[in-house]
Amino acid sequence: AKAAGRDRYALFDPAMYADILREADERAELERALAAEEFVVYYQPIVDLPTSRLIGVEALVRWEHPLRGLVGPNAFIPLAESTGLIVPLGRWVLRQACRQLAQWCADYPDTERIRMNVNLSARQFQHEGLVEEVGQILAETGVNPHQVVLEITESLLMQDTDSTIETLGRLKQLGVRLAIDDFGTGYSSLSYLKRFPVDILKIDRSFVDGIDTEHGDATLAEAVVQLGRALQLQTVAEGIETQEQWSTLQDLGCEFGQGYLFAKPGAAETIASILGGAKPS
Ligand code: C2E
Ligand code: CA
Ligand code: CA
Ligand code: CA
Repeated sequence: AKAAGRDRYALFDPAMYADILREADERAELERALAAEEFVVYYQPIVDLPTSRLIGVEALVRWEHPLRGLVGPNAFIPLAESTGLIVPLGRWVLRQACRQLAQWCADYPDTERIRMNVNLSARQFQHEGLVEEVGQILAETGVNPHQVVLEITESLLMQDTDSTIETLGRLKQLGVRLAIDDFGTGYSSLSYLKRFPVDILKIDRSFVDGIDTEHGDATLAEAVVQLGRALQLQTVAEGIETQEQWSTLQDLGCEFGQGYLFAKPGAAETIASILGGAKPS
């Protein structure tokens, strides 16, 4: 695609060929990693802002590369999306996350209200079998669907709305909840938000970043919280790093949050120790 503008009739473009080879290599490497189960799911706590009590976690995938060590999703999710490998990878993450949730519920009786948030990419959404696969994973792991939150991006909601609404509706019928991720970065209008059966808005980190320094960010964050309230949606602020951001968000009426101030994403054991410690005596 890169070479298309240069000379559309060239039969061989060494630079493009190198790109294709590299992409094919990386694709093969991702496929190998998937088969070898080199991926691991980390979990980041989501808390109730007034009390900082754990109300859920977000599942975030990492790659335990045999040579490169722990690799973050930004380094491989885009390729997984462009190659379509996000479909099996995303299915694997959802299955892992639901198994983990079932395990925590078995180990810690107070965990029945804990939510498990899992990211769904646009590409997974376009995949025909998505709803059946989600239903299958819920059934096989035995988790309460109401504890599962699927995070979708705002940009996804803006494409192809008829089939999008249909798929969202079918997912809702399974009993899961839906969250709009990175909210505020797209161009949502009120009317279109009303049309989608979503439950939760996640305020993008970029607004939380400047909330105490840039007037515009605080105003936008406040607008999102109010929008959420008007539409009876819950609001979760992402990327809370300071005490000031925490208290400002509470003043704005935001219910939930996640960020390094509370906890970074960690291996399942780190969550288990919170759940163990949080058990009422
Ligand atoms: P996201 O869904 O917006 O996830 C939140 C990201 O913000 C995570 O990065 C998290 O570690 C980071 N974060 C949380 N709190 C803070 C904070 O206080 N400060 C800062 N600076 N960052 C914070 P991570 O884990 O690197 O994931 C990056 C993105 O990769 C995610 O953004 C999501 O879009 C994608 N991703 C991760 N796992 C999956 C997956 O299983 N499936 C799909 N489709 N995408 C995934
Ligand atoms: Ca997310
Ligand atoms: Ca996000
Ligand atoms: Ca993001």
